[in-house]
Parts: sequence; C-alpha cells; structure tokens
Amino acid sequence: MSHETLWAPWRLGYVQGSVSELPCEPLAWRTHACHSCFLCRAASAPEHAQALGVVDSSPLGLVVLNRFPYSNGHVLVAPVDHLSTLEDLSDEVLLDLQKELVRWCAILKKVLGAEGFNIGLNLGTVSGAGVPGHLHWHIVPRWSGDVNFMPSIAGTRVLPQSLATLWESLTEARCESHPSSKNPSSLWAKG
Ligand SMILES: [Zn+2]
Repeated sequence: MSHETLWAPWRLGYVQGSVSELPCEPLAWRTHACHSCFLCRAASAPEHAQALGVVDSSPLGLVVLNRFPYSNGHVLVAPVDHLSTLEDLSDEVLLDLQKELVRWCAILKKVLGAEGFNIGLNLGTVSGAGVPGHLHWHIVPRWSGDVNFMPSIAGTRVLPQSLATLWESLTEARCESHPSSKNPSSLWAKG
C-alpha cells in the first residue's frame, strides 16, 4: 500500500500551541486549568464563547470549532477539565462526551447536510495529538465527492464557510435542539 504525504504547514502554530494569539483572557480560570491550553481557555471563558469558537457546553464537556479545520464543520468534543488519558475520565464524563458526539453528528447532518463523518481521538504526541494534555475527539464532516480535483491537483482544500458564520448557524441549530438555552455560556457551570 502506498502512502502520500499531507503537507500542512498551517498546522504548525496549532501544534506549537500559539494560544497567546487568542486575546480572550477568562475572567476566572477553572480550577486546575492549564493556562496555555486553548481548550482550558475555552472552558474557562463563556464570556468569549464566540471568539473562542465554542458552540456547545455542559458542566462536563464542551464542543469547539477547530480553528484549522480539515473540512467545513470540523469540531472538537472535549472534557472541560485538562485531562490527558482515557483512564482519567469518569464514567459520567465519558457518557456525556459520547452523547455530545451523537448530538453533534445530528446537528452537522442537519445544518451542513453532512453525509458521513470521520470521528477520531489522537492519544499522545506520537499519534499526532496537537494538544496532548487535553483529550479531544475530532468530528470531521464528509460529503461524497469532497476529495475532488482541488486537493488532488492544486493541493488545496476549499472551505466554503467562514468560522464566524459557521459558529452562528451551529449555535442556532444547537439552541433549537436544546430550547432551554439561548447561547453556549448559558449551559456553562464553572468547575
Ligand atoms: Zn486543557
């Protein structure tokens, strides 16, 4: 079997954790939060939900837009706590995160017309984890024909929607599926 190399230099800032680019300092960091981790920052700053791309949250988990998406609608599902291994997760957190995966596949199907998904978890730096200290599942929506001539010939992926408009349509859809909440921060509980 032959393998091709994916050249993705835009991921360097992400892998190196250039979280300092984010201007959104939380009013109060969560207990045990890692201040250089963008997921801890997102979990600690409901007041900056939109700027940090947070589209959903619960007392145990959060869903964030990937700032460097592999496809339109690429989101990350993570525990609110800075935990690095599966063994660190309580049964309650595991269940909550799996429910978020199920719910967000449904939302992405409805809002973006996704026809399938790649769902994955990179455990540890050697596996390709960009933020190895904070577990997160990737949900990458897929469409038939999404690997078309552009990636093949031009080495370019076409992302048809900005993160800002994507955030708006996804949070709107999330509110519809969760009528009690008006925005991501209203689901939040500081830990
Ligand atoms: Zn973290």
